[in-house]
Amino acid sequence: MNSDGSDSQKKKSPGDGFGGPRLPDLKPFKDWKFSAVYVVILVAGITFFNYVFIKRANPTIDFSEFKAKIVSGEIKRVELTDSYFTGYTAAQREAPEPAGNGLRNRHPPKEPVYRAVPINDPDIIKLMDEKRVSYYAVSREGNLILSILFSWVLPVGVLFLIWRLILKRLRTMGGNVLSVGQNKAVILAEGDVATCFSDVAGVDEAKEELVEVVDFLKNPRKYTDIGGKIPKGVLLVGPPGTGKTLLARAVAGEAGVAFFRMSGADFVEMFVGVGAARVRDLFKQAREKAPCIIFIDELDAIGKSRLNSVAGGNDEREQTLNQLLVEMDGFEGTGGLIILGATNRPDVLDPALLRPGRFDRQVLVDRPDLKGREAILRIHARAVKLSREVCLDGVARITSGFSGADLANIVNEAALLAVRSGRTLVEQRDFSEAIEKIVAGLQKKTRVIPPEERRLTAYHEAGHALVAAFTPNADQVQKISIIPRGVSLGYTIQMPAEDRYTITRSYLLGRIAMLLGGRVAEEMASGEYSTGAANDLMKATDIARKMITDYGMSERFRNVALASRGAGGNREEPLFQREYAESTQQYVDEEIARILAEEYGKTKRMLEERRSMLDEVAQALLDKETLDEREFKAITAAGGAGGTAWPPVVSE
Ligand code: ADP
Ligand code: MG
Ligand code: ZN
Repeated sequence: MNSDGSDSQKKKSPGDGFGGPRLPDLKPFKDWKFSAVYVVILVAGITFFNYVFIKRANPTIDFSEFKAKIVSGEIKRVELTDSYFTGYTAAQREAPEPAGNGLRNRHPPKEPVYRAVPINDPDIIKLMDEKRVSYYAVSREGNLILSILFSWVLPVGVLFLIWRLILKRLRTMGGNVLSVGQNKAVILAEGDVATCFSDVAGVDEAKEELVEVVDFLKNPRKYTDIGGKIPKGVLLVGPPGTGKTLLARAVAGEAGVAFFRMSGADFVEMFVGVGAARVRDLFKQAREKAPCIIFIDELDAIGKSRLNSVAGGNDEREQTLNQLLVEMDGFEGTGGLIILGATNRPDVLDPALLRPGRFDRQVLVDRPDLKGREAILRIHARAVKLSREVCLDGVARITSGFSGADLANIVNEAALLAVRSGRTLVEQRDFSEAIEKIVAGLQKKTRVIPPEERRLTAYHEAGHALVAAFTPNADQVQKISIIPRGVSLGYTIQMPAEDRYTITRSYLLGRIAMLLGGRVAEEMASGEYSTGAANDLMKATDIARKMITDYGMSERFRNVALASRGAGGNREEPLFQREYAESTQQYVDEEIARILAEEYGKTKRMLEERRSMLDEVAQALLDKETLDEREFKAITAAGGAGGTAWPPVVSE
């Protein structure tokens, strides 16, 4: 659909398959030995077949003995072929079958049968005439074909069929057995990666961090000369379709180094040990090609936490993961080899993977904001002929929450729609239709947010942020966004000023106020309540309840822990039991309601005093979709930088 590097890469490697040129692995010598084994098996098989089905026929006797048996009258009938004389003791032919070298008798005669290798003895016919032995000859040609058929073609055919069956079985069981341990990664030699950072848009923060990685690869000396260690692993974390794979490729392209890409799923095979062998192989190849990048896509497929796995877990995956950990420890961080990983489930990753010396750097690749979306649309529209009236900014405006892949899809879909209606330029209506189509395809996950809903969301998030900014001792607002994420329409991230180990009562009340701020602001903006605050209310209520039951912060039960416990007293026990009176429960409920009502009132007063500021923040959000700490402070002008600590507090 366009000419940028990513797509040409895609054509080279459809899907994730990377079924490209296999690296020669089995050496010719090994190959030869391999086929010799099969030749031996084949010959042995045929010999066995012949022995069982053919040579079981009667052994031959001496010609003289044969003649004697005719003379004695024991043999009454003789069958003549080029290879044998066969003598029967019964006069009647039992089965009118052509007989060859003894193979014919599917109903072998019950009487004894004698065979002899013929000698050119003209007397034998005379002798048989004399003794009234009936004799007849059987044509050779039919026999020869038959015998060849039975003794060679049939067994070869049968063995071949069996062999095919076994192969097919093994293949469906997992991978080609012959390529066990072989690496599926495609080596793109230097210069082969055409993707560069200009092909990626809307993920500026991630790009900034990766620029440094490119520098590690290009000038490792710069870092090692002063004794620094170059990070070994960088993990790209973000929802699907946001450009993680694209970014990894761009890093290789920018640094001009070889790029090994494997998907986590490529490692996990039917046979235990195959994945581990692949990892070993991959790192071996990569070390030979250094400087280079190993990119492990969908890392969670092998990196799943070993702790949570059920019933002993998955041996194969664990071995693979262990091998990966060993390999990552095994090379020095002196530059030349950097491992990039990508996942959309960082939460399930094994903690061992995230330890220093492994994937110790995480780069967030999030959904693009308004400007980012427009930039992505422009990248993908480069190769598409657009009509002049197309307004990509407008398309970006209504596609809040769409990922880069969704946007690429929209451009492509619009181009296809234009072709379908016989036009040579893509028009605005094609884009509208494409968006509808893609939204319908994505179902509820992504949707076009109506303007009024967007406005309410902006006020909601602005409310959270302002309350946080003006509550003493509250965490600093770090980022506000109205880009939809999953079911939530926006989010506010706060950074604690310092590590908090114990939490004061005023801090908890401040948290409740901040959580209620969203709903208060919505109400101020539209005079209406919405369901958008359900999650906030749940969290606020939870804090209030814990204040009373766990932390002993209520009037009546000051310093009393009313905590409930699981029936078994442990965390695994799902059944919770209350260990206090019914009347106490009633008090708890009432007290929760009282705390929330009080905080709601305070919050409302606080925001009403700053109505113009609230409008300003909401408007800024509508314009830009995300505000960082600096942009937010520029509006609120509330001082105090505050340090940053982990983890950030996110409210939706
Ligand atoms: P991920 O690996 O995060 O799931 P990909 O990198 O595979 O996503 O993205 C799929 C496609 O979507 C890319 O090939 C590209 O065409 C498009 N795309 C995704 N994100 C971006 C972006 N930030 N800028 C430009 N194109 C993007
Ligand atoms: Mg990907
Ligand atoms: Zn909220």
